[in-house]
Amino acid sequence: MSKQKINKLLIGTNNKGKLREIKSLLPKSIKIHSTSEFNLKSPVENGETFKENSLIKSKYFSKKTGLICLADDSGLEIDFLDKNPGIYSARWGGRYGDFSKAIRKVYRELNKKNKNWKNKKIKARFVCALSISYLNRKIACVLGKVEGHISHKPKGKNGFGYDPIFIPLNKRKTFGEMKPFQKYRMDHRYKAFKKIKKFL
Ligand code: IMP
Repeated sequence: MSKQKINKLLIGTNNKGKLREIKSLLPKSIKIHSTSEFNLKSPVENGETFKENSLIKSKYFSKKTGLICLADDSGLEIDFLDKNPGIYSARWGGRYGDFSKAIRKVYRELNKKNKNWKNKKIKARFVCALSISYLNRKIACVLGKVEGHISHKPKGKNGFGYDPIFIPLNKRKTFGEMKPFQKYRMDHRYKAFKKIKKFL
């Protein structure tokens, strides 16, 4: 698929936070479609890696709509929790995607591992796999990461998901305390996007 051919693109996510962020990264010349226009449910994400799950989504949504689809799969890896929640990041929020529930679970699991976890630096990273597919064919699939650590308590009301507990490397604020455009220019999705841009 050559670069000029993509003039419309479906963003394969039902997550409004991600849709907003991905839209802000795409060239204005591309007509963006969202899954809500087609009233589509998300597919079962039964892959074992971020890349596999991203491809499951981009292929599924492309086949359902006949449009080229850009989809992501992302999550938070916490080293002290053996890289959990990882690909289960959304699932830690339960069936209603309750992010405060997911954050409480992170702190519960850290406490279970070691009551004194606050004396350590809890290294973590956000990972994002972005893929573009047309029907059942993969056009591209890349990975972006942002390193950081877990805050002792949730801070900030911006963003979504685990943003209030993630402090990126060399910064003092959590993603939840940053202005959206500050976060968008340094995060895992942006880094993956830079790699996949040439396919658009
Ligand atoms: P999925 O990619 O739809 O399976 O969901 C990934 C989950 O990881 C989201 O629901 C969030 O809980 C979390 N996540 C992914 N990216 C971010 C981010 O940029 N900020 C905060 N949480 C994120």
